[in-house]
Amino acid sequence: SGGAVTLSLLSHVGRLPDQGILIDGQWRPAADGASWTHTHPATGEAIGSFPVATESDVDKAVHAARTAFDDGPWPRSRAGQRVKLLHRYADLLRANADDLRRLQALDNGVPLSFAGIYATSVEAAADVFEHHAGWIDKVGGETLPPYQGGDHLAMTFREPIGVVAAILPWNAPFLLYAQKVAPALAAGCTVVLKPSEFATFTVLRMVELLVEAGLPHGVLNVVTGPGNPTGEALVTHPLVDKVSFTGSRAVGRHIIEASAGTLKRVSLELGGKSPTLVFPDAPDVGLAAMTTMGTVTMGLSGQACVAHTRALVHRDVYDDFLNAAQLLAGMITYGDPFDPAVLSAPLINAKQLDRVLGYIERGKDSGARLVAGGSRVDGALADGNFVQPTIFADVDNTAELAQEEIFGPVLAVVPFGDEDEAIRLANATRYGLGAGVYTTDNRRAFRVARALRAGTVGINGFQVEPHLPFGGFKQSGLGREGGRSAFEAYTELKTVLMPL
Ligand code: NAD
Repeated sequence: SGGAVTLSLLSHVGRLPDQGILIDGQWRPAADGASWTHTHPATGEAIGSFPVATESDVDKAVHAARTAFDDGPWPRSRAGQRVKLLHRYADLLRANADDLRRLQALDNGVPLSFAGIYATSVEAAADVFEHHAGWIDKVGGETLPPYQGGDHLAMTFREPIGVVAAILPWNAPFLLYAQKVAPALAAGCTVVLKPSEFATFTVLRMVELLVEAGLPHGVLNVVTGPGNPTGEALVTHPLVDKVSFTGSRAVGRHIIEASAGTLKRVSLELGGKSPTLVFPDAPDVGLAAMTTMGTVTMGLSGQACVAHTRALVHRDVYDDFLNAAQLLAGMITYGDPFDPAVLSAPLINAKQLDRVLGYIERGKDSGARLVAGGSRVDGALADGNFVQPTIFADVDNTAELAQEEIFGPVLAVVPFGDEDEAIRLANATRYGLGAGVYTTDNRRAFRVARALRAGTVGINGFQVEPHLPFGGFKQSGLGREGGRSAFEAYTELKTVLMPL
């Protein structure tokens, strides 16, 4: 359902950030003048362009970050100075939240109605900056006793890791930008940031505000453009000390290979095929269906790393779950993301639309039972990349539908008979990002939560928060964002000792 998209797109935002590349405090075009035109996912209309940073632009940006790290004031600044700047920035983000939300809707089509969902909110980004500002004056080293031999004094220090290449996806630019930039800056690192080519304007506005907050030149530099040539030049640059990447498993694997030459530190936040496990004593099967379908449909149309796109449901409540999920699928509205009645996002681009439709078509031939959706939304919305919320029941857990990250509004429902089978099915995936357990039996809840090979397990509900570690087991990633360990991931541990 939903109305026609009648956007006069730019009227929804005050001004489109038009600078592009930021090197040592100066905004510039690309060295060769090349640019990328971004199209709005709900209509296919061009909304604006930004420079495609060349290898030489990236080289200049990395050198600026290197000089700012080796010789500049930021890594040597007093803790209080960094704390105050990051708090000032969090305030600026909140003061500009409305403007930022509109830019996001224009960039990636996340509807205004759902930008208030924490993971896609400006508030979350501001909270993450405050959270990491909080660690600056609290994370230190230790003094350690001698182990053998003569008396000596040994101490450890946490020092900033150096130049960080931060590479972002497009789907939740506020939070994901903050989860990299905040701990990196808090720890005293310098940064070269590459936004996704599908959410660049939003990130540029966030960077403008960081400049306004008073960050010294060269501490954060921005290179805009796609994976090739821009991202590639960044991850292979010898003067980068750490690559912090959020995106797909395929690019994550490539980044490990590309970083190997100079043994860069690598943090990866990758994809998932997160399961919801619904037991017969679930407090409310409807709620389990709603939480699951919420991640699969509303806001991002399944384009969230931690979307619970695999429902493992006990046979006793299987039909109840399916009925509730079908009902919810029928309630989703699409269309103009600036319309407050619109509840779901388009897929980000035509390539992704084709990919998702391919999975659906193969799913129809796989023996699974299609019980909702199954095609793109056409009619008045045919120019946008909209796909109906799609539910396949009776999916074999080894089938493509249950194993691949589709990154679209497609739920695979798999029946199970007992707890052991549920755990085995849940863990039978290369991914391990999130999971949900629905039961009123607390002992079962914790038993199952401990047995699941996933980074975050929600019992009767799921929430991403700035102070909670978030990341993947297995091929869902390396390292964690959120919390103290995320701050420490931007530091090196140094031991200093002296015989007494
Ligand atoms: P993507 O991997 O296509 O792109 C991510 C970023 O990598 C973009 O900035 C892109 O330009 C860049 N890139 C592409 N090729 C590159 C290369 N060769 N070298 C360097 N950079 C390169 O992912 P996407 O479509 O933007 O985002 C969707 C993916 O991100 C999904 O797999 C999703 O699960 C994952 N994701 C994970 C998390 C998490 O926290 N675990 C959060 C959000 C999204």
